[in-house]
Amino acid sequence: MKILVAVKRVVDASVKIRPKADGTGVDLANLKMSINPFDEIAVEQAVRLKEQGIATEIIAVSCGTLSSQETLRTALAIGADRAVLIESDDGLQPLAVAKLLKALIDKEQPSLVILGKQAIDDDCNQTGQMLAALASMPQATFASKIQISGDCASVTREVDGGLETLNMRLPAVITSDLRLNEPRYVTLPNIMKAKKKPIEILTPDALSVDITTRIKTLKVSNPPQRSAGIKVPDVATLVAKLKNEAKVI
Ligand code: AMP
Repeated sequence: MKILVAVKRVVDASVKIRPKADGTGVDLANLKMSINPFDEIAVEQAVRLKEQGIATEIIAVSCGTLSSQETLRTALAIGADRAVLIESDDGLQPLAVAKLLKALIDKEQPSLVILGKQAIDDDCNQTGQMLAALASMPQATFASKIQISGDCASVTREVDGGLETLNMRLPAVITSDLRLNEPRYVTLPNIMKAKKKPIEILTPDALSVDITTRIKTLKVSNPPQRSAGIKVPDVATLVAKLKNEAKVI
């Protein structure tokens, strides 16, 4: 069974971002970039399925600039077998990424596609859902447990009211939630091995995919500053303030 895993290069979760001075976007100059955390979980899950003898090959794919090769090397060091970079300088939006991944699915014919539930830079939470629709595959988003038996997947999802379990036929699209697994530490020997694994570079044109931007960003700015909080000496003062000043009770 072949598994395709989508990995996005994003600003590291520990970095405090700032808008560009002209408000046209986020200033990415000299920022630490990392693999999207939910995608790291997705790769880990694929590797575990391979270790269980269920998967035979794991292909990591990233859509973006040549620097996304660094992210693909991380996926290869976790245990993916090979990687594909769909190179594009354009700021790709979820629909464009979903179309590119669909074209790669047509080419590679994987039995399972795992994505992160959302990219922590745009927080869209759209690509997996759009991909499943474009590829006419069943989908299970926010997965916290995946079990494969034969050509069926049983996926436990985290939903507002608790957990929901879905059974579906493969091929399917699954998006990973935080509690699906804890990704392993990447060891130095595996980082060295990953340098020798192949990365194929494709372009949207070669896949005949139209990546025209459909959403226009008007302005990126910091959220309004909140005034500092205060400490109250006792519950009576708190209640009085909630009544008289905040007028919430
Ligand atoms: P989003 O819909 O943007 O929140 O992204 C959801 C998931 O789609 C991510 O966790 C990735 O697995 C995948 N994805 C989004 N953008 C890209 C990209 N440029 N390259 C590869 N995978 C991506």
